[in-house]
Amino acid sequence: MSRIQFQIKGGIKLNITDIIEKVEKTVGQHKMPYEEPWKILISTVLSQRTRDETTEKVSRALFSKYRTIEELSNADLRDLENILKPIGFYREKAKRIKEIAKIIVENYNGNVPESKEKLMKLPGVGSKTANIVLSMGFHQNYIAVDTHVHRIFNRLGIVKTKYPEETEKELMKIVPEDYWIRINSVFVEFGKKICRPIGPKCSICPLLEQCEYGKNVVKK
Ligand code: SF4
Repeated sequence: MSRIQFQIKGGIKLNITDIIEKVEKTVGQHKMPYEEPWKILISTVLSQRTRDETTEKVSRALFSKYRTIEELSNADLRDLENILKPIGFYREKAKRIKEIAKIIVENYNGNVPESKEKLMKLPGVGSKTANIVLSMGFHQNYIAVDTHVHRIFNRLGIVKTKYPEETEKELMKIVPEDYWIRINSVFVEFGKKICRPIGPKCSICPLLEQCEYGKNVVKK
């Protein structure tokens, strides 16, 4: 497999595959609590602008009451709002997930579409959500860039991007395809345990030597 090495600020040389492997060895991979594509889709929609722990709790409650996508498509909106209350924008999200479920039942015979184009036509589904469903639910080769992946690769200086969509494009240029599917699982776990949004644990991070951002955090 090709080893891609490139230089970032300060003349530091980075090898992208070594970084991914080092991180994976340290924290492992985040395990999606669900395997069914419709549950991955709905919980990812719920996760938008919501803390991971809250999304997991609310998704568990939702799927224990609505066990199939057909049941979700027929759900009472008020009941959905009650279940979703702990998460941000719960009213809009209740409406959105019911609508998504209805479209999938009516237009796709209850099966989540396996194409990015079709997924992105569903309400509230952007590139990140589509890529998560395709990579985790259908094992297709996509890089799912969420806030963890976006933040960490910018902190490391591997990309210099403003939005996750730009990060996705940049990573596709520099990460070998064999690593695409697992990037999200590895870096979500790393983002939760070490490179946290607030208070990253740089002093115990295996990437500290290669990370200017981290060195500044440790100096303070
Ligand atoms: Fe994140 Fe700090 Fe590690 Fe850099 S050194 S990757 S900022 S935890």
